[in-house]
Amino acid sequence: MSHDALAALDRLPRIALLDNATAIHRLSRIEEQLGLARRGIRLSIKRDDVMALGGGGNKLRKLEYHLGYARDIGADTVITVGGVQSNHARLTAAAAARHGFACEMLLARMVPKEGDDYEKNGNVLLDELFGATVTLLPRGENALVHANARAEALRNEGHTVVVLPTGGSTPRGVLGYARCAREISQQEDELGLRFDRIVVPNGSSGTHAGLVAGFAALGRDPARVSAYSVLGERDATAATTLGLAREGLGLLESTADLAANEVHVDGSQLGDGYGVPTPAMKEALRLMASAEGILLDPVYSGKAFAGLLQDLRSGVVRDGEHVLFVATGGQPGLYAYREDLMG
Ligand SMILES: *Cc1c(COP(=O)(O)O)cnc(C)c1O
Repeated sequence: MSHDALAALDRLPRIALLDNATAIHRLSRIEEQLGLARRGIRLSIKRDDVMALGGGGNKLRKLEYHLGYARDIGADTVITVGGVQSNHARLTAAAAARHGFACEMLLARMVPKEGDDYEKNGNVLLDELFGATVTLLPRGENALVHANARAEALRNEGHTVVVLPTGGSTPRGVLGYARCAREISQQEDELGLRFDRIVVPNGSSGTHAGLVAGFAALGRDPARVSAYSVLGERDATAATTLGLAREGLGLLESTADLAANEVHVDGSQLGDGYGVPTPAMKEALRLMASAEGILLDPVYSGKAFAGLLQDLRSGVVRDGEHVLFVATGGQPGLYAYREDLMG
């Protein structure tokens, strides 16, 4: 089929940060352990955790369009915000380093965790190595307010600055995952199959929104994307996702419609909140690591995979389905959560 419906993806400003399409492969050992074959269920993974730059992860796809815009307006500095262990902030620092932008980040205490592992290891260590200017804000401070104030100060000194909000989840960031929807569609064509269910974590909603926008524009059933919220309540997250997806479709000049009931968010894996480990996350992370040698992360993909395991066991995933789990990266978080994860 034609992918022309998303031709705008190739016209809008972009800096390429990924070398290739990320791989899709079967999780045959997990299929075996869960007895999925006799139910005709096939489980595949898309390796958005494997990218050459900065340790990889889903934020690089959004950053392609953010940095394309930054270059377009002649920016010299990118400022971003996030939680202490933000993967988005780490990848912004890496991509900025690679493409000659100064990077500053304001990190907020969004998670009730303290200590050296959490505050100095994992992503925080890498932020420093990538040369970013890191400011750890006291609890209760609004990082975006500080980011905008800092941007204003730099502009007064003659700099051109781009400020990226949490997770890079703006309509422009959404384009990165609309592009991923096109990539998945092309891979489906090559593999000669259609995935019935495509599973992602939903944090700041840009990943989910981009996939549904992309599939809607291509006429490839956006409702098969199934997300597990790891940050917000289910209904609020679904509403944010729908809004972002529609804005993304606007940027893509697509006339495709997206209905509220085509955005599926499951809130069952949030537990006690963003960044707070759950027993199901730990089990899911261990299963993926010990059966497949693949690392998930404790904040996002671990909780999403826990949700998928629950739905596989309970029969929500029906016999005969082809399921694609999108691994979104975040491995540095493992080192920040050492105490929670050590058996
Ligand atoms: C940010 C992030 C997500 C969530 O993506 P959103 O677009 O914010 O919903 C999932 N997995 C990892 C590893 C992330 O860093």
